Amino acid sequence: MEILYEVHTGLYVNLTNRCPCACTFCLRQTRNQVGASSNLWLEREPTAAEVIEAFSHWDLSRYKEIVFCGFGEPTCALDVLLEVAHWLKAHNAPPIRINTNGQGSLINGRDIAPLLQDCIDTVSISLNHPDPAAYQALVRSRFGDAAYPAMIDFARRCVEEGLHVVLTTVDTTISHEEEARCAEICKEIGATYRIRAWEG
Ligand code: SF4
Repeated sequence: MEILYEVHTGLYVNLTNRCPCACTFCLRQTRNQVGASSNLWLEREPTAAEVIEAFSHWDLSRYKEIVFCGFGEPTCALDVLLEVAHWLKAHNAPPIRINTNGQGSLINGRDIAPLLQDCIDTVSISLNHPDPAAYQALVRSRFGDAAYPAMIDFARRCVEEGLHVVLTTVDTTISHEEEARCAEICKEIGATYRIRAWEG
């Protein structure tokens, strides 16, 4: 199973293939891998011990960051995510980021922002669109109309917990006017806005 893989200067962690969304742009629809990986479809979800064992084969000092981001939503495997992140913090790992759809509190049925506060440095959340209906049309979350406000509330809660929060959109999917509205949302929340390049 491919648990760890390189993307540019980061070492990425593939914890799960579960996700409550079916984004229209999800890379999983057309590919089996990202970056230097070969196949990010898991036979089963790794345990925390298996992820930690996988790290023993990599020189962490070579990487600028560790990123929880694979072929699924990392907060679907919250217990493993937290155990591994705490282990990394105790072993002089580089800064730790999670890439998330922001629906982790809905997925886990509780506010998870406080749990991330002492083991994650940056939370990167896919904002995708400033309009709730257009957002849901893009991500097709099983949580329906509850997904967008929960994602915004999660971003706000992470800022309140002192985490560095980045909200992202993809440069080819929305207009400049919509990007300006996203920038306003980020300003109001206290998050950084990042327009990232399409990776398809
Ligand atoms: S949230 Fe991420 S993993 Fe889930 S469907 Fe969307 S792009 Fe794919």
